[in-house]
Amino acid sequence: MLSSSCSRTKEVRSQELTLQTPYYLLDKSVLLRNLEKISYLRQTSGVKCVLALKAFATWSVFDLMAEHMDGTTSSSLYEVKLGREKFGGETHAYSVAWADHEIDEAIAACDKIIFNSVSQFERYAQKAEAQNKKIGLRLNPGISHSHFLLADPARPFSRLGEWDMDRVTPVLDRISGVMFHFNCENDEYESLDTLLKAIEERYGEILHKLEWVSLGGGIRFTNENYPIDTLAKRLKDMSERYGIQLYLEPGEASVTKSTTLEVTVLDTVFNGKNVAIVDSSTEAHMLDLLTYSEYTSVAPNTGPHTYIVCGKTCLAGDIFGEFQFEHELKAGDRIAFLDAGGYTMVKKNWFNGVQMPSIAVRHLDGQVELVKEFTFEDYAQSLS
Ligand SMILES: *Cc1c(COP(=O)(O)O)cnc(C)c1O
Repeated sequence: MLSSSCSRTKEVRSQELTLQTPYYLLDKSVLLRNLEKISYLRQTSGVKCVLALKAFATWSVFDLMAEHMDGTTSSSLYEVKLGREKFGGETHAYSVAWADHEIDEAIAACDKIIFNSVSQFERYAQKAEAQNKKIGLRLNPGISHSHFLLADPARPFSRLGEWDMDRVTPVLDRISGVMFHFNCENDEYESLDTLLKAIEERYGEILHKLEWVSLGGGIRFTNENYPIDTLAKRLKDMSERYGIQLYLEPGEASVTKSTTLEVTVLDTVFNGKNVAIVDSSTEAHMLDLLTYSEYTSVAPNTGPHTYIVCGKTCLAGDIFGEFQFEHELKAGDRIAFLDAGGYTMVKKNWFNGVQMPSIAVRHLDGQVELVKEFTFEDYAQSLS
């Protein structure tokens, strides 16, 4: 038993090493840990969870995710269609602004459409009513938890949702629910609780009249030490208080820690510090690192050798981070960047013509499957 499992581990490892870097490696067993927490929250609180496709849309693993989530939510027509086609369950259609040429298709593909403003509602609600689709409106509560102004839905003059209840009240009887998205990477239950109290205080009157309320995404409830039972009770109490079906829209939280970006060192140089150049790029493959001025992480990140690990584009600040290694790095060494599941594969691009990372999935039995490869043709086809 021991020897067979040992040789299997070896076999899997060697199979993995034959894959050409760069590639994203999604580990289904870690994904499943997140999904089981989502299922647990759904069962204990009655909340429904729809995957926010803008964070993660790698549809090869949607079959597993669909067993633990209720459906998808979107930020565009294409995400609505992908959710309907590849995920199933409930398809929520939200977009900051719909265009005339896409609204019919969006309505046809969804179960619910959530308008971002009363003016969009007025422009298109009749079409949704004609198709008997549920209609919602995004409200901006003017409060939020976000570490970045860039990603703060309640930033000054934010266009994300209606602020003015005088505009909302006249259309209330034509909507069945509202969406509040007011968190970004919120891992503090107390902060969420405080924000929910404020929302209940301000909107209590109207919540009673609604059928459903979505609390959006950005809540890191799949994190190891998150008080998930306290959250479940809070959500259950809230839905009972107003007689509403609550929804959450987890993006990042569904795929947290599930994926690595596997790269190879191409060169090392010393320019006052040790620098290693790898066959990938922050700008092209982990763009959020640049957007939010962050470093990624590696494990175990110990040892006496310090390197600035950089991408191979000509962007001077294409830097994954400064890390510790046990040995001197040399060309051919492998590095795995951690937590590369959310907001990576959905944002990858062909900047500098750098090879786009393949996508590989480690199945629950340990077998690694290459599910997507990109070629020169894909690069050429992305332009004309
Ligand atoms: C971005 C977004 C989400 C998902 O946010 P995460 O931080 O990835 O959980 C959910 N709903 C809306 C409306 C969003 O804009």
